[in-house]
Amino acid sequence: MVIQQTPLARLLTPLLVLVFHTSLQAQSAPKLVVGITIDQMRWDYLSRFKDRWSPQGGIRRLMNDGFSCNNTQINYLPSYTACGHAGIYTGAVPAIHGITGNSWWDNNKQEYVYCTEDDSVKTVGATNDFGQMSPVNLLTTTICDELKLATNFRNKTIGIALKDRGGIIAAGHSADAAYWYDEEGGQWITSTYYMQEIPAWVKKFNTPARVDSLYKLDWHLLYPAESYVQSIFDRKGYDVRTFGSSERKFPYGLKKNAGKNYSILPATPHGNTLTTEFSKAAILGEQLGADSIPDFLAISYSSTDYIGHAYGPNSLEIEDAFLRLDKELGQFFDFLDKQVGKGAWMVFLTADHGQAHVPGFMKINKLPAGLMDDKVLTTKLNEALKQQFGVENLTKGIVNAQVVFNVDLIKKTKKLGQSDVAEFVIAWLESQEGISRAIRLVDASRSAIPDHTANQIKNGYFPSRSGHIQILYKSGYIEGFPNGGSTHGSGYGYDTHIPLLWYGWKIKQRKSARNMTMSDIAPTLAALLNIQEPSGSIGNVIYELY
Ligand code: ZN
Ligand code: ZN
Repeated sequence: MVIQQTPLARLLTPLLVLVFHTSLQAQSAPKLVVGITIDQMRWDYLSRFKDRWSPQGGIRRLMNDGFSCNNTQINYLPSYTACGHAGIYTGAVPAIHGITGNSWWDNNKQEYVYCTEDDSVKTVGATNDFGQMSPVNLLTTTICDELKLATNFRNKTIGIALKDRGGIIAAGHSADAAYWYDEEGGQWITSTYYMQEIPAWVKKFNTPARVDSLYKLDWHLLYPAESYVQSIFDRKGYDVRTFGSSERKFPYGLKKNAGKNYSILPATPHGNTLTTEFSKAAILGEQLGADSIPDFLAISYSSTDYIGHAYGPNSLEIEDAFLRLDKELGQFFDFLDKQVGKGAWMVFLTADHGQAHVPGFMKINKLPAGLMDDKVLTTKLNEALKQQFGVENLTKGIVNAQVVFNVDLIKKTKKLGQSDVAEFVIAWLESQEGISRAIRLVDASRSAIPDHTANQIKNGYFPSRSGHIQILYKSGYIEGFPNGGSTHGSGYGYDTHIPLLWYGWKIKQRKSARNMTMSDIAPTLAALLNIQEPSGSIGNVIYELY
């Protein structure tokens, strides 16, 4: 049967097609993509504080209305900040993007290199040298670079984090800007890599009074102390680092720092507040999300990392910092709804790594843990090597849990090859307290270790920027922090299991327990945005989102 169109329908059809087409076009890309990395957010915080997330907060909104990937793991070593931000935004691993640590020993240059250092650029916004930074050491494109290429550079991409590496690496090579915190002046700065002069909106934001007003709030618990049932009050048995010897517990007095010391702001939850406020100012100042060409704002919240290092995952301090951030994220999402439009923006929230528990806390609770000291270990190792081979300083030290050989010295020493040194070093390390295995990096595939561990080692290995022997500490053992506190960097779940939540635009409400990796984030963004994946991406598209 042929359906005959009435004259009116015939007249309306092209119009309807046009309306439908326009609405499809409007939905083909979000106006603004916001990437939120919460530095050192363990995945289990989502559930540990599930009764604590505010009804108006950001985390509950993402968990209830967004897509939660509940088993996302870091797939390389070491689980540090620079590698994490590179991994999230490139879909690659250190073996490909080249960011093998926050800093590393460069075997070609024969010197230590900081991940974002760049002597060829200058600070913009301050007179100190804190701004001599750029993404020059990152070897592949990020998802922000690919969005620039896909829009023929007609969009804007910006990275923001108190830590230089948190914003710079994420935003990539072609970013309009990355901004980070100048601990001397208490203000946001950038470098000549991006621009010659600080924009007017940044200048307006950067008043000393702003950080001073945050200091004047001190740090009080957000809720009554007795409501923090998931956290420890009594730190008997292990000490922690604080804001000076007189500030050992809540409320922490911060007022005295106003006008004097801007370097401790990142170690308070107010550092996250400053980051949110600056992000809002960037959206208004740069008109992000104002037109249909998708912009990208990569935000990283650094303060949770400083607080977590100082007090550990089961502290009042970390719970309070997260409850405050949750509230602020809720307000930030309301701001995005108003400014960019409900459904016109999308966000993903993840972390660059997790964190181990404080060894002192673990021991009190009869859980395996311990402290390592890489400096002492290096001295003892070099002594043992001297006794064995009669040569001093055969290693340069331990960097990113890897022993770096003194390659030139080994070459000069007749009848001594790297294999001889490696064999001795491995046997010696494996006899030490706190070390489970030592693996020659070039031999990870052939070593008798689980494939999972071998893959983490191989994915983290970039010969000119890596050491020679990978040290695997026992579970719960961490390097440093003799006075309490904790860290990350290992391949254990407490360091590698990260949250991954998606929300907004056309993201469905769902959750998945499927195994995913950090490398999946960037190619999934590329699929959602219908653009090319970053150049080094090895991840899989999270197809449930597509
Ligand atoms: Zn970090
Ligand atoms: Zn850290």
